[in-house]
Amino acid sequence: MEHVDAVVIGGGQSGLAAAGALREQGLSPVVLDASNGPGGSWPHYYDSLTLFSPARFSALPGLALGGDPDRYPHRDEVVDYLARYAQRLDVEIRTRTRVEAVESASDGFVIRTAGGRSLTTAGIVAATGAFANPLRPDLPGQEGFGGEVLHVADYRSPKPYAGKRIVVVGGGNSAVQVGYELAEVAHVTLASRHPIRFLPQLRDGKDIHHWLTSTGFDHLPPEWLIHFVGGTLVMDAGQYQDALATGRLERRAMFTALDGDTIVRADGRRETVDVVLLATGYRPSLDYLAPLGALTPDGMPLHSGGLSTTHPGLVYLGLEFQRSFASNTLRGVARDAAYVIPPLAAHVRRAPAAAGL
Ligand code: FAD
Repeated sequence: MEHVDAVVIGGGQSGLAAAGALREQGLSPVVLDASNGPGGSWPHYYDSLTLFSPARFSALPGLALGGDPDRYPHRDEVVDYLARYAQRLDVEIRTRTRVEAVESASDGFVIRTAGGRSLTTAGIVAATGAFANPLRPDLPGQEGFGGEVLHVADYRSPKPYAGKRIVVVGGGNSAVQVGYELAEVAHVTLASRHPIRFLPQLRDGKDIHHWLTSTGFDHLPPEWLIHFVGGTLVMDAGQYQDALATGRLERRAMFTALDGDTIVRADGRRETVDVVLLATGYRPSLDYLAPLGALTPDGMPLHSGGLSTTHPGLVYLGLEFQRSFASNTLRGVARDAAYVIPPLAAHVRRAPAAAGL
């Protein structure tokens, strides 16, 4: 069976940051990714997506995005950027290689892939993101609903929805951005449990990311954010609040049920809708770790700051709020890599295979 120093599962920005940090530690990791090329989920995000973070706050260490650092790059620029980043790393990346299971072995782990191959290693970085695991809440009455229910992960462009009546469920960035775009061609209502809370994109002429980084907010532990800020904030340069104020976009309280071709409001009133679009978030995509016992019964990783609390040779990167507000962003992931990779590398160096045993 093939043995490698360390295996990075996932070749998106998190996996690439991990691979670079492992190389710096003198290890020769192998990156395994299920898709056709490195770069992660970016090619699958919706077509019009421009980053909420300016170019200067949207790069991994050692390679700038190029161009005006204050512009908001389009999705495709990130796809291209990550492909270039991967090429510059002196790391083997095996694409079209889905990891099906990770199991314990006497001196580390056995990784089993969908192609029937197995690898052994003492060190694993789980960097598989969350996009493959959309959270789809069961809506009461959904089985009898005549319209279409889809998750925003499956949304690409407004074209197929022209003229439709759409309810977007959620109050986060994706719900507002996609709802706003759909409102160009369709009748759109946002349905959320709480009023939407906005974070101004610009303050004193500078992008909010300037303030998040210069004040140290970006480095604060997530508990602080959850306690004092209280939940999701939607970045807005003004257009979204304008759309809500002018009625181009409507926000209503979450409906209570679906029935036939309608949604049912709390007061019993019904509205006919064609599409319910769930912008209800994602859960970490880590099924392959279940055989290891590294997850809670509902599939969440047992960890502290990205260091597994069940297996010393296992770390995570790219989890939401892993160590800070910026953990699952382009600007924040390398900082988390600098925290989890040195202890992982030390563990690998102590492992029997590294000592030639
Ligand atoms: P992913 O990009 O999801 O990559 C995971 C990789 O793991 C994929 O390539 C997948 O093929 C692979 N994989 C999954 N399962 C397996 C398996 N079992 N075996 C092998 N491989 C597997 N961040 C910013 O900094 N700025 C922004 O403006 C910004 N905008 C965003 C907009 C949207 C709509 C979304 C959804 C996110 C945005 N983010 C942004 C957040 C974040 O930067 C991205 O979600 C980013 O793609 C996360 O990178 P990742 O490497 O952690 O995960």
